[in-house]
Amino acid sequence: MYWNKEFETMPWPEVQKYWLSKLPAFIDYLKHNSGYYQKRLQSAESVKISSIENMKQFPFLTKSELREAQLNSSREFPLGEIQTAKTEDIVQVISSSGTSGRPVYYGVTSKDVEIWKDAIATLYYTAGIRKNDIVAHTTGVPLFAGGEPYFEGIRNIGAMTVWPGNLSTSRMLETIRNLNCTVIQATASFNLYLAEHCPEALGIDPKELGITKILGGGEPGLGEEAIRQKLKDAWNAETVREIMGLADVMPGMWAECEDESGMHFNAQKYVMVELLDKETGECLPWETGVVGELVYTNFSRSATPVLRYRSADLVRVEGTSCSCGRKSPKIRCIGRVDDLLIFKAMNVYPSAIRDVVLKHFEQFLTGQMQVVKDSAEQVRFDSAIPVDIEVNPAEYDLADLKKKIEKVVRDTLNIRIKAELVPANTIQRTQYKSPLIRIREQ
Ligand SMILES: [Zn+2]
Repeated sequence: MYWNKEFETMPWPEVQKYWLSKLPAFIDYLKHNSGYYQKRLQSAESVKISSIENMKQFPFLTKSELREAQLNSSREFPLGEIQTAKTEDIVQVISSSGTSGRPVYYGVTSKDVEIWKDAIATLYYTAGIRKNDIVAHTTGVPLFAGGEPYFEGIRNIGAMTVWPGNLSTSRMLETIRNLNCTVIQATASFNLYLAEHCPEALGIDPKELGITKILGGGEPGLGEEAIRQKLKDAWNAETVREIMGLADVMPGMWAECEDESGMHFNAQKYVMVELLDKETGECLPWETGVVGELVYTNFSRSATPVLRYRSADLVRVEGTSCSCGRKSPKIRCIGRVDDLLIFKAMNVYPSAIRDVVLKHFEQFLTGQMQVVKDSAEQVRFDSAIPVDIEVNPAEYDLADLKKKIEKVVRDTLNIRIKAELVPANTIQRTQYKSPLIRIREQ
């Protein structure tokens, strides 16, 4: 039932104690191997860590700080100041996807790679992958967290791993058919895209391919019931499960079990996670319904470790016990802290808009939609938020549908949107993350 029974079934308070026991040696490692951390940790007087509260003595780390610390790179330290292992000991580099600026690069030593393989296998095992599965792994870019690291994790379970990542959509679908794949691993939007293209590429309905399991992550989406159902129906799949990780910390950390009621944390052995109030920075309890930002410390990584890294991922705790016996909390990702939109005085995330619209009008829509901003920095909207929404090809009264969509959003979220109904396949699909936000071309 479990890949790592000891940690997966360990009560959460004990997991937290285990983390605290690991921290002193980790802090010591940072201070001795990194001038960058030496400076940052100066103000942390003592390294007494007897409770999670003591974590406050350590400053948060953000993506932009990491990016900046990497600008001073050299042949000796190709990863810049965040590199805490010798270059000769680093065996591989991955990068963030660069959707929010210059990508940040992270290294791994051969020991770090072994840890990855184990942690990511734990995630995929939780998500239901077994040795007898034939897994189509579709990420096109090996350098991304969802590329080579995921491949290693799936292969570590012993599943037959097929990686047609860089092929065209048609060739990818051919490969899936030729090899009788049972699982598709892709982002939610790419998975829908594959299903849409199946009739054209293979001349058959995707249901005929016999896919039983759909796995995906990398963007909010699979947590939304309407999108899960759309995928399940499109492929006639038995299960649709969400997974999540971060290049900056550990490529895979969260996965849904057979209960399909939120993602469990699966990287207890190697990564510490805190739930934080994004405004005050205070620790929040892991209790059902609590919403907070995830903050990570990967105390086991030696090449590019992070201490209290603010992920900017905003999640809601869905539960703290589960029928599967795993003891870690379950979460759903609500969105990125930086995706927040403000309409008059109301805060809203693009994923919430999509959730509401799909819940009521799923049968008319492809599932693709995008909020349109005037600039990357725009957060505030004084008039209705423009949203492009793709409709299925059929004869609808579009003016009436537009009105109904705008009304439901207004009634449910207390914000106004200006729905722009566009034909299917107008919104650009990407193989990795399909953003929920688009910047208007000037
Ligand atoms: Zn479970």
